[in-house]
Amino acid sequence: MKNPIEEIGILHRSNVHIKNKDKLNEILNNIARGGLRKLQVVSDFDKTITKQHEDGIPHLSSFAMFSRIRSAAEDETYQATVKKLRQKYYPIELDPHIPVKDKIKHMEDWWNLSEKAISGLMVTQQDIDDVCLECKPSLRNGCKEFFRDLNDSNVPALVFSAGCGDIVAAVLKHAGVYLPNVKVISNFLKFNEDGTIMGFKDKIIHVFNKNEYAVKNTDFYGEVADRENAIVLGDSLGDAAMTQGMEHCQNALKIGFLYEQIEDSLPQYLDTFDIVLVDDQTMDVPRAIFDYIRDAAR
Ligand SMILES: [Mg+2]
Repeated sequence: MKNPIEEIGILHRSNVHIKNKDKLNEILNNIARGGLRKLQVVSDFDKTITKQHEDGIPHLSSFAMFSRIRSAAEDETYQATVKKLRQKYYPIELDPHIPVKDKIKHMEDWWNLSEKAISGLMVTQQDIDDVCLECKPSLRNGCKEFFRDLNDSNVPALVFSAGCGDIVAAVLKHAGVYLPNVKVISNFLKFNEDGTIMGFKDKIIHVFNKNEYAVKNTDFYGEVADRENAIVLGDSLGDAAMTQGMEHCQNALKIGFLYEQIEDSLPQYLDTFDIVLVDDQTMDVPRAIFDYIRDAAR
């Protein structure tokens, strides 16, 4: 039995936390055995593909970026509503003392009320592109290279986001990582003929329903049906469940990025993710694991 943790030097950095090394070694061995042809990557977007902070300043989420679009920024009722919602619900999302099952109802309320608030605004694709270029959120260091390597190796990458899909897609596009292997599942805006937002196109995805969300009903599902191994990336506890709706997925290696309330949240993150990266604003670990899988096949 190989010991991949020993071989992947970066896993010995002091901010890398692993609760169950035997289990992680087993997953790594299974995934390496399948090689790149059996691999897919499933990643959250906000604070996972983008950095959690830059020099201590937290990054804007896709919805926060949306709020900066002129028509939204100038709408005082909209601004007051989203601010109030965030003040109420964001602490609940983060609170390590509230069980996830209790958080779900609150997250549903938050997203439903956000959908209501967003409806009626008029936004163009140009507005969306402009706000992305203006805010220019930085992707994790090494993110571009990671996506390039995945595309070069024909490994599908699913970006699975509870954020605003139109913004997510635009950020990926402008950063040059919306490559042919990338698919985005998220809350995309629904417009009427004159460009007014009517809500979201499909069933709402919030931070804690990514497990039940029917990835199954998308064409992506067919593309990855023979990919039984996944690297799963996220910064929220709910992200660890992103492959639960994929029946064929046998080995999911879950990597969690933790930045806020580190001390209080670490135990839960360690129970949920196979690898927890504390205040790591890079893609170094996912890339090292990808390299390990690729090289193991040679
Ligand atoms: Mg996130």
